[in-house]
Amino acid sequence: MSLSEAVLPVSIEPHDDESGLGYCLRVISGNGASLHALRRLVEIDNIGRFTTKHAQSLGRVFQRSSEWLEMALPTAEKTKPYQRDYFGHRWFSRNHLRTQNPQVCIRCIHAKGYCRAIWDVSIGTVCLEHRCQLVDFCAQCRKPLRWDRPRIDVGHCGHLLKTMPETRVTLRLFNLQSFLEQKFHACFAAEASPDTCHLTLLNRLSLSGIHSVIVGFGLRRRPLEVLHATARTKTYQCKEWAEIVERGLDRLNQFETSTSMHDGLSEVIVESLLEQMVLNHESVHDQKAALTLIEQIFKRKISAEFGSQFAHLSQLELF
Ligand SMILES: [Zn+2]
Ligand SMILES: [Zn+2]
Repeated sequence: MSLSEAVLPVSIEPHDDESGLGYCLRVISGNGASLHALRRLVEIDNIGRFTTKHAQSLGRVFQRSSEWLEMALPTAEKTKPYQRDYFGHRWFSRNHLRTQNPQVCIRCIHAKGYCRAIWDVSIGTVCLEHRCQLVDFCAQCRKPLRWDRPRIDVGHCGHLLKTMPETRVTLRLFNLQSFLEQKFHACFAAEASPDTCHLTLLNRLSLSGIHSVIVGFGLRRRPLEVLHATARTKTYQCKEWAEIVERGLDRLNQFETSTSMHDGLSEVIVESLLEQMVLNHESVHDQKAALTLIEQIFKRKISAEFGSQFAHLSQLELF
């Protein structure tokens, strides 16, 4: 039998909220093989990533319909402007999704036996069920977690993933997680999910827009901090994301509650992240929110600079 006809003996059904990459790992390890072996079966090179391009071949190997995989695997990255689809949402920066450096809830992993798709969203760093922070490294040897590992509950290092001393989850991160999860799964809900974030600005944004605004507000640790060119798109550890998000939510709260704070905010907010949102994001609400923030915080009329391209935005009521 040629490789192109090979199928795995044990067929395993995915969970609705399961990460596509996590599912690939769960199925292949359930069949006693590794992701490297799976790459060979679907003819990807040794370090290649699984994307929607491989959904058909993976469906054949797993003996399942490829429809779910089409949605649950990230699309191949499209650059200029950066775009990637995952679970019915479009993402506009390479660090919005953790497709290379996963994070997990150790308790969920052991209790449920699968990786949730929401864990692949970088700014979501909390497990609502266990009220703990997600982790992205092995407690025993501190090596970062990778998708290429023997099983979902075992690190690449070979150690069983174990819980570590609890990091306190703040109410602010907990509430944001709840809001993100509703947004993330809204495409499957029969009715649109209610707006639940007390920060009005975030309610109508796309998930990628929420990421850009929170990180735009929270990336700088102190006023006028000079950021390296890669700071906007680099991969951060789960703990670092949690710190960025905490700062971002704190400053957003200041922005929404006190107009006298706006002047100070121009020294901490990363304007280029908001500019990219105006130029690259497809959601009109994202574009409008970013324009409004630039105008109110930096006193700059970016819409005038780009002319009629953004004429449609002036018709929209954002808040
Ligand atoms: Zn959990
Ligand atoms: Zn280890």
